[in-house]
Amino acid sequence: MAEQDLLSDQILSVNPATGEVVARFEAHTPEQVEEAVAQSVAAFRDWRDRTLDERGGLLYAAAELLRQRTDSYARLVTEEMGKPISQAKVELARCAGHFDFYADHAAGYLGDEPVATSAERSFIRYEPLGPVLAVMPWNFPFSQVSRFAAAAMMAGNTCLLKHASNVSRCALAIEELLTDAGLPPGVFRTLLLPARRVRPLIEDPRIRAVTVTGSSEAGAQIAAAAGGALKKCVLELGGSDPFVVLADADIPRAAAAAAQTRLSNSGQACAAGKRFIVERPAARDFEDMFARAIAGRKVGDPLDPATDVGPLARADLVDVLDRQVAESVAMGARVVTGGRRRPGPGNYYEPTLLADCTPRMPVLREETFGPVAAMVPAAGADEAIELANDTPYGLAASIWTGDLELAGTLARRVEAGSVFINGVVASDPRVPFGGLKRSGFGRENGQFGIREFVNVQAVVVGGYGARSQVGRQPESDSTRRNT
Ligand code: NAP
Repeated sequence: MAEQDLLSDQILSVNPATGEVVARFEAHTPEQVEEAVAQSVAAFRDWRDRTLDERGGLLYAAAELLRQRTDSYARLVTEEMGKPISQAKVELARCAGHFDFYADHAAGYLGDEPVATSAERSFIRYEPLGPVLAVMPWNFPFSQVSRFAAAAMMAGNTCLLKHASNVSRCALAIEELLTDAGLPPGVFRTLLLPARRVRPLIEDPRIRAVTVTGSSEAGAQIAAAAGGALKKCVLELGGSDPFVVLADADIPRAAAAAAQTRLSNSGQACAAGKRFIVERPAARDFEDMFARAIAGRKVGDPLDPATDVGPLARADLVDVLDRQVAESVAMGARVVTGGRRRPGPGNYYEPTLLADCTPRMPVLREETFGPVAAMVPAAGADEAIELANDTPYGLAASIWTGDLELAGTLARRVEAGSVFINGVVASDPRVPFGGLKRSGFGRENGQFGIREFVNVQAVVVGGYGARSQVGRQPESDSTRRNT
C-alpha cells in the first residue's frame, strides 16, 4: 500500500525518473463513489441488453482511438510509472488488441450451448453479472485494465476501476478514452481511492464480482473480503517464474531470452523469468552470455526511445530490491554484474545477475520486482523441476531444451498456470493466463477470461423426462432433480 494512503486521501503522481510530483488528486469522496456505483448499476440495465455487435462496435472504436492517441498516452505512462517509452507504445498496442480481440470473439465464446437431456430443450447461456470492481496494478497501467475490462464489458457487465494510486492519470485517461469512444455513461468508471477504502465497495451488494491484479498480499486481503461477502473473485497475483535451462538447450538463444524476460518493463512484470535454474554443464556458458546481455542494456531516461531499462515505479520498490539482494549476498550469492542502486535522482537499480543462489535466499523465496536475476545450479532435469516448484508462486514457467519430448513430460510436473517451451513467458489474448498457489486463481484471456464474469445459466424447457432420449437413463434425471 502506498505510504501516502496512511497520511491522507491525497493521491500523488510522481515521476519515477526525477522524483518530481507531477499531479495531486483528492480521493473521491464517499458521495462521488456512491454516484459512480449508482451510475454503474443504472448503465448495466441498458448495457446488458445491447447486442454483441453494438458492444463490439464501441470496443473497436476504443481500440482505434487508442491507436490515434498512442504518442500522448505512451508519454503519460512513461512519466507516471517510468516504463521506457518504446515499451509503453508496445503496451498500448496490446491494450488496443484486447479491445479488438474480445469484440471479434465474444460471440463465439458466449453463444448458447445446447445440452442433450430428456427435457424438450436444454441449453446453457452466459449472462452478465452486473457491476464488476477491478483493483489493478501500476506495472502495465493500460493493458492490465483492458485485459479484464474488454472481456467483462463484452459479456455485458459494467466496470468500476480502482487503479494503483501512483497511476491515477492513466486511470483517468482510460476512462476518458472509453467515454470518447462512445461508451454509454457509467459502463466504465474510474474511482480514485486509497486501498483502505476498497473494502466497503467489495461488501456493497450492488457490486457483483471483484477482480484483482496485484501482489499476493493485496489479493489475500481482497479475497478475504470477497469471501465474506460471498462474491466471485478472480486473483491475478505475483509470480517468481522459473526459467529452466537444460544442458542440451540452445544456450546463446536461452541467454538472450533470459535477459529479455528479466529486464522487460525494467524487471517489473508478474510473468517473467526470475529464477534461472541451469543444469550444471551449461551453467558457466549461460552465466557469461546472460551477464553480457544484461550489462549491454541501456539504462536511463525512459523518455529516450533507445532506453531498455528505466527507473522502478516507486522509490520504496528500490529499497525492497536492495534488501533482497543484500540479504542474498550475505547468504552466499555471488554478484556477477550490478548489485547496487544507481546514485543520483530517480528510482534506478543496476541490472543485476546473482549466481550460486540457494532456495532460502530472498531472491528465490520472494518475488523480485525489478531488474534482478537469480541463477541456481541444478544437477539434472529432475532437480531442476524440484527447484522450479520450490516457490510459493505458480504463475508461469519456461523450459529450454533440445529434447521436446522431455520438455513435454517435464511441463506436466511444473506447478504453473502456463509453461513455455523454448520461449519466454508472455500473455496472449487467445491463451488462458493465470496462476496457482500464491499467484492466485481464475483466468484471464480467451474463453476462460470472458466466462469468469458471467452467470452460467442452465435453461431447461419442459422438465427432465419430457421426451425419451437415446443413451440417457431416466434415473440420472431423477437423481439430478433430487440434488
Ligand atoms: P499491490 O501493492 O498489491 O497493488 C495492486 C493494487 O491493489 C493497487 O491498486 C493497490 O492500491 C491495491 N491494493 C493494495 N492493497 C490493497 C488492499 N488491502 N485492499 C484493496 N486494494 C489494495 O501491487 P503493485 O505493487 O501495484 O503491483 C505489483 C504486483 O502485482 C506484483 O506482485 C505483480 O506480480 C503483480 N501483478 C500480477 C499480474 C498477474 O497477471 N498475475 C499482473 C501484473 C502485476 P494502492 O496503489 O492504492 O495501494
